[in-house]
Formats: sequence, C-alpha cells, structure tokens
Amino acid sequence: MTRRVLGRAFLVSLLLLGAAGAASYTVKAGDTLYSVARTNGTTVAELTRLNRLGSTALEVGQVLTLPGTSSGSAPAAPAPASAPATSPILPATTGASLPGVAVRAPFSLRMGDGFTLRLSGVRAGQASVRFPSEVGEDVRRPNEVLKPIGAAGEYLVPGRVVLGKTTPVVYEVSVGGDLVRGQIPVTGLDQPIQHLNLPVSVTNKLQDPARAAEEAAVEKAYARRTPQVWSRPFSPALASTRGTSSGFGQPRTYLAGGPVAYHYGTDYPAPTGTPVLAVNDGTVIIAGKYPVRGNLVVIDHGAGVVSMYFHQSRLLVKAGQKVVRGQKLGEVGTTGLSAGPHLHLEVRVRGEATNPAGWMNRLWPR
Ligand SMILES: [Zn+2]
Repeated sequence: MTRRVLGRAFLVSLLLLGAAGAASYTVKAGDTLYSVARTNGTTVAELTRLNRLGSTALEVGQVLTLPGTSSGSAPAAPAPASAPATSPILPATTGASLPGVAVRAPFSLRMGDGFTLRLSGVRAGQASVRFPSEVGEDVRRPNEVLKPIGAAGEYLVPGRVVLGKTTPVVYEVSVGGDLVRGQIPVTGLDQPIQHLNLPVSVTNKLQDPARAAEEAAVEKAYARRTPQVWSRPFSPALASTRGTSSGFGQPRTYLAGGPVAYHYGTDYPAPTGTPVLAVNDGTVIIAGKYPVRGNLVVIDHGAGVVSMYFHQSRLLVKAGQKVVRGQKLGEVGTTGLSAGPHLHLEVRVRGEATNPAGWMNRLWPR
C-alpha cells in the first residue's frame, strides 16, 4: 500500500475549439456544461467530444462548438486529451489507500450509476469522503462531506453519477491530516433522443400551478439524511414485468421541438391495478397526488437513498408509515403526466437519480 497525498491541480481543463463554421455558443456567467447542453438540445457527452473538454469546468467567454446541422457524419474525434493520462491521480480502481484506510472503488461507471466506495482498515470509521468532481456540475449539494456507514468491518459511502456527466468521478478520502484522491472513468449511455410528442392536454400538466408545491415536496425528500434502515438486498417493485417501456436515462422531448430532458427513472408497463411493492424497508415520506408524478409514494431508506413510485391509480400507505420490502404501496395507474398505465420507478442518492437496475438484488450498487 502506498501513501499518496496529492496536490490540488489534478484536473486541467483543455479548452480547445472545434472545427470552424459550426454553430457555437459563448459561455456566460452561471452556465454549466449541463445547462448549455440542455438549452442547445445536445448532451454533455457530445459537447465534451466536440470540444475535446478535459473537465466540466467552463470559463466565461469560452466559445463552445455546438453540434452542426449541416455537417453530415462528423469524423470521430480522438479521445479527450484530458489530464488523467499524465496526472498523479491514482488508477481508476481499487488500491487507493492512506495510513489506516484502504479504499475500494468501481473500475468504471456509466452515466446515472449509483455506486459504492468501500473503506476498510483501523481508521476507516473516522474517515470523511467527498466527491470534488461534483463542483460545478448540475447536482444537488455538490462535494458534501460524507461519513461512511459502518457495516461489519467495512465502511461504505454511496455515490452517484448524474445524468449528463461523462467526466471522471473524483473521490477524496481524508482522515486526520491524511488525504487521498482517486478517480473513476465514466461513459455515456448513448441513447438516441426519444420524441414523445405528447398531446397538449397531457403536457398542460407541466404548467399546472400546483407544480411548485410538487417540486418543493420532492426536493425536501431529497434533502433528508437519515440512518440506513435496510439490511436485505433491494427487490423489484412489480412481482413480474413485461420489460420496460422507457429506459433509465433516456433523453427525450415531451413536445415536438421542446427541450431535451433525461428520464430519471425506469418505466414498467403493467395493467392498472397491479400491486406496487416497496423495493426495500423504509419510511413513507410522501404519499399523495401531484400534477406530474400523479399518485406518488416516496420511501426514505436512509443513507440518503429514496425510492419513488409514480402514476399510481390508488395509494394504500400514508406519510410517516414504516414499510418493509415487498409491502404493497398502491396500484399501477396512469395518473399525472403519463400516457398509459405503467410504474415509473426512481432510486435517488442524495437527490440524484441512479439506475434502479443497479440496485436490484443487491444490498448496495457495485
Ligand atoms: Zn417514466
């Protein structure tokens, strides 16, 4: 085990410009790579590729090349010439360590993955963990100081890769005066944009004045930090499924020509009335009807992890109620912004959507 205390300048942003003649955008104060991508109908991955960006950091006045409309098939750009190849960052896998703490992390991640950092050693329980790569990203409470969760000789910290992010996740573990950083490469999902072209009667729900209260309620749920309550693997929310009708992380537009949004959950088509089951033990923190999510249940499982069940036809639980894995919460329906009976399931880590598939049949995502 090698002790490494790394310096600050570990990620260098390379601000090379793309081909002349393409559409471009000049960065203004307050812009993030994600917001620029979203407002221009593209993705962070595409902007990163086109501009050969080495990080998500932007500078005011920086000119970004946007995907052209007349370029046909653009030649594939070489892999971003970013800092990782030459920086002193530890390899993107296990082995990061400092005195009394060994850190294990996934080899690689995909956009929207939930994941787990695993700490062991005599000082693991006293360590603090942060994800400094979240600074400047469109993410709730970036770089929060996290205390690992003790579990039988091992300590865990759940992480999340936000949708739209393809730059490496950087983690930082500190204990006493010692500090180690590591990084994990991230790949995109490369899903083509799905154009839903929903009827105006459905999308009118996006203008419903009750939406502000809906968003406030879910943001309050995302901000909760309670102790982990589950001790068994997560299980599916439907007893049987007929596949998915819209996958996690799918980029989509709701109206023709409208802005691109990511799909923060997974849609499981099922007949109205199909039982909706808790994916694990927890406390119901929201059970009510909202304009977009319809009849919604949110369960706090602790450790910053919540699961969300949208569009139900009816609800059988109340806020404040403790539930166990597999317990019936309600029934599948098509309430809220929904075009047919299905369950939309989300699993969020500290407010950010993670791929539900990564949790199923596991105690923690990898
Ligand atoms: Zn959905």
